[in-house]
Amino acid sequence: MDNADYITGALRLANARTDDLEALRAELHDEPWWCSRLTEQDLRTLHRVAAELRQSLEAAVFGEHETLHAEVNRLLATYPPRPRLSREGPEQHREWHIHIAEVEAPPAHEIAAAAAWGLAQGIVRHGTERWGRCEAPNCGTYFLDTSTNRTRQFCSARCANRVHVAAFRQRRRA
Ligand SMILES: [Zn+2]
Repeated sequence: MDNADYITGALRLANARTDDLEALRAELHDEPWWCSRLTEQDLRTLHRVAAELRQSLEAAVFGEHETLHAEVNRLLATYPPRPRLSREGPEQHREWHIHIAEVEAPPAHEIAAAAAWGLAQGIVRHGTERWGRCEAPNCGTYFLDTSTNRTRQFCSARCANRVHVAAFRQRRRA
């Protein structure tokens, strides 16, 4: 994973369903190293971590810099990244990569450390202006707005369409 992946990972965990082990596994499916080892205990830890990530993102969205600063550093202190170079698996599939926690650390700690690291990196790279929360009703998904004019309102084309179709129907009724 490079830093962009860690940023994506932070958002993914913040937006994930963390009340169901299978749902969370599905969410993290492209990191088999994590999701195959996830336990109910990890789920409880990540439920808390995701809530803390959302608090940080909320602070970013509203430009509350002191809260953001304190929250992200608290996450980093609780789940400190401890990077190590790794090359495991069957010989023909081995690739150099970095794990962000010790081999024996529970998956929740590695996921939390990666998310904390990703959020910190995201703030360094993109500042605090580009974090947003989807404005579609019943969504609230957090996102990073990488558009040039910084006008993104929705997490996805799906949410944008949902809102535009509703507005269109509203106008036709009027
Ligand atoms: Zn949305």
